[in-house]
Amino acid sequence: MPEQQSQLLGAPGQSLAALAAYQRQGGYTALRQALTNQNPDQVLGDVRAAGLRGRGGAGVLAAEKLALTARGESGARYLICNAYDADLRCRNAETLLERNPHLVIEGMILAGFAAGIHEAYLYLRGSRTAAVAAAQQALREAQERGLLGRGITDSTFDFTITAAGVERGFMGGEESSLIEILKGRPLKAQQRPPYPTDAGLFGQPTAVLNVETLANMPVIMARGGQAFRAIGTEATSGTKLLTVIGPSGTADDTRVIEVPFGVSVRQALRQARLEVNESTARAVVVGGKEGGALPLGQLDTPIDYETLEQAGAILGSGVLEVLPKETCMVHWAMDVSGYLAGETCGKCVPCRVGMKRVAGALEGLVSDLGTRDDLTLLEEFTRYIADGSLCGFGVNAINPLATAMRYFADDFTAHVEGRCPTGTCAPVRAHRYTTKHVL
Ligand code: SF4
Repeated sequence: MPEQQSQLLGAPGQSLAALAAYQRQGGYTALRQALTNQNPDQVLGDVRAAGLRGRGGAGVLAAEKLALTARGESGARYLICNAYDADLRCRNAETLLERNPHLVIEGMILAGFAAGIHEAYLYLRGSRTAAVAAAQQALREAQERGLLGRGITDSTFDFTITAAGVERGFMGGEESSLIEILKGRPLKAQQRPPYPTDAGLFGQPTAVLNVETLANMPVIMARGGQAFRAIGTEATSGTKLLTVIGPSGTADDTRVIEVPFGVSVRQALRQARLEVNESTARAVVVGGKEGGALPLGQLDTPIDYETLEQAGAILGSGVLEVLPKETCMVHWAMDVSGYLAGETCGKCVPCRVGMKRVAGALEGLVSDLGTRDDLTLLEEFTRYIADGSLCGFGVNAINPLATAMRYFADDFTAHVEGRCPTGTCAPVRAHRYTTKHVL
């Protein structure tokens, strides 16, 4: 299986941001053919044959989401392209929009055509100014050339896209929360059902699809659904963008790569020019802030939804982060759990209170105040929070702690005995006091 694939980002160093450059590569040909020679069911059939799964985390089949949005009586339906990198360190959506914005626009129009949608939102982080500018410029060019608006490419299909720049923390990227934000309401995750495909934006059927998912639509239409399956795994076809963060954690040590599904974590790190071993690294976190920490012995795990889940990690935000060799995993779990406790929307108790209790108990361990009972409590919370949370944020927020306890149990035992295994933890008794009383 080839490790390097550039279906979405184009060749290294190549920018397809300008409409002319995109069209020289065959851009918008798939759209013209679909609007001229195919009906929406045929487009949906190609996406179904391709087995395209949502890149936003859950891996739901894109064709099913579009089909659910399309059913029922005619009326307003919406498409939301989620290009909001929830994990602030993630650069996947931003890079895609900067380098290939017309691929995203063409994918959105094709998705709209397949599901009978005429109005769409491109939802992205407002602070990513280069990506916002690239998206706006591409939307302007597409509008001027008759690729957006009324009667696209002389067909009878109308389609508009509105760019919405938003800055609302980690939860700003959660599906039900972003619909609330677009409605102008406070950020709160919503109970499902009803699902957005039944009652989403303004109470109408809405397909919320990740920017990478939509960018794959023109690729599928150009090659055909079956041919698209040649790349990736049996379960998941195509490629994945990954933000890879090296041990220093700096921006200079961060790269965005594109790999076929099925390559191992180790192969992805090599593509990002990172050779990871015990002299440089302690673990690799797969999935971003809600991801799981895999020990170096697990680096041959294939990158795919199910294989990562079995290992305790997730595809999540699409971030691979190398933790330096001196990392104490109790301290790391404390930092990440504390961060996530501050990002919860607060709607349900297991997540809102549970994550604060987890962060507090970990602060106790780091402060030489922990007992074996704290370890029992933490283990109980890994189940209780995941089982009792309303949305995916709470379900996954416990992954860092769960994998730290699963793979690095000796670090926790050492802290109960009053030692930090890497000699890096400084007591934080004041923090423990504060957290306990916040509850
Ligand atoms: S799990 Fe957390 S983020 Fe999700 S609804 Fe509950 S409190 Fe909000």
